[in-house]
Amino acid sequence: MSGAKWKPLDVIAQDVQSGKVTAKELVEASFGYIEQAKEYKAIISVCRERALDRAKEIDARQQQGERLGRLAGVPFIAKDNFLTLGGATTAASNILNNFNAPYQATVIDRLEAEGAICVAKANLDAFAHGSSTENSDWFTTKNPHDKSRVPGGSSGGSAAAVALELAPFALGTDTGGSIRQPAAFCGIVGLKPSYGLLSRNGVIAMASSTDVIGPLARSVADAALVVDVAAGKDEWDGTTIDRAAEPYTKLEEFSLSGKKVALISEYFPESLPTEIKDATKQAIEKMTALGATIEEISLPSLPLSLACYYVIGPAEISSNLARYDGQRYGHVSSEAESLEEAYTKSRSEGFGSEAKRRIMIGTYVLSSGFYDAYYRRAQQVRTKLINEFNQAFEEYDLLIGPTAPTTAFKIGENTKDPMQMYLSDVMTVAANLTGVPAISLPSGTAEDKLPIGLQLIAPQNHDRKLLGYAKEIEEALK
Ligand code: GLN
Repeated sequence: MSGAKWKPLDVIAQDVQSGKVTAKELVEASFGYIEQAKEYKAIISVCRERALDRAKEIDARQQQGERLGRLAGVPFIAKDNFLTLGGATTAASNILNNFNAPYQATVIDRLEAEGAICVAKANLDAFAHGSSTENSDWFTTKNPHDKSRVPGGSSGGSAAAVALELAPFALGTDTGGSIRQPAAFCGIVGLKPSYGLLSRNGVIAMASSTDVIGPLARSVADAALVVDVAAGKDEWDGTTIDRAAEPYTKLEEFSLSGKKVALISEYFPESLPTEIKDATKQAIEKMTALGATIEEISLPSLPLSLACYYVIGPAEISSNLARYDGQRYGHVSSEAESLEEAYTKSRSEGFGSEAKRRIMIGTYVLSSGFYDAYYRRAQQVRTKLINEFNQAFEEYDLLIGPTAPTTAFKIGENTKDPMQMYLSDVMTVAANLTGVPAISLPSGTAEDKLPIGLQLIAPQNHDRKLLGYAKEIEEALK
């Protein structure tokens, strides 16, 4: 975990282009690291054949003197809710056990077009419902910094994989915090881009209005390169937005000097553990030294954001999971004797308890008697939140706070009470509800050596600015 296994992504690609190293060597190195780190259970499956085939092809093109892509030969790991060719995609759910996708996610295609190679699929909470990977139907991933603790979730396998350097970067999804919170728990960089910047096509839907794809990486520069390769309009996802005209990797123009930054007071409560407070204060000092002015502001609707998310999220989940009906794909009950039973038994056997809980809550809040009381009100709160963020960004360039209210918790600590688990997202869900980009940066460690994350939030579609400031802060925190 010393950061020594892989070079920065652009350097790896240059080394492959110049023949210093072959794609095959890189892919095999990654397989070796995965094998050595098996006890952490970060990986669900290895894409051995396809990865080696792709490496061979890239190496042959290099031999011909061809121009390879910007990620030539760079191995990466995808959360197992990204459809990929050359292996199963399970979303860590029994209902998709051994499911082989007929096509792959747009983002995977775009990364591959620049030479990147998907070597493995990472563990997650089934269907990305959770904050610890304990909702995975396969196994729980262990935190690389302390094996008795969770890596966070739901992209916990991806985060642990990057912290263990099984590959130089990974892909995750963030519907309510699932990239940022595990990045914070594992001590790496996790970016949730603006809603719509990266195509959701080919990524198993959780809550479609807040689902976002993003990188987990060892540096802001690496995360920026992944976004630059993957971002932009996709005809297969009608919610995708135009990418910025300038590259996401060109960040020199952004400096915190003279900028106004706001610490969100709702994310800095009295009850916050002292070590997280101290890490945040230290980051504030560094930002002040960089020339920024830091003030504290309140966004009054924020305390409602978690409740709002846990109404809107399940509503969309209940709709999205309706497609797993034991008819088209996925688990089919062998016990069913009628069509009705085929639906109910396949779903009852295939879904885990968290998916069932969310389907029931979601169906309830959408039902005609309760729609106004729950779903409509949650949407009203969402609008208020968007307005409050917009207002804040009229005055401030960047909003900050910790990424999570705790460091990595113990395996089993929060499994008995779903509410306790949901509270882990209290600082992340608002960015999803409002669509704004947010990033988690490592900002120190607690006394027990567990990493602490700092969250930066920028206005919608200002992802370049967010990355620019993040890079400056990352440097200052080193
Ligand atoms: N932990 C949150 C949840 O359980 C967020 C999940 C996510 O972002 N995929 O819903």
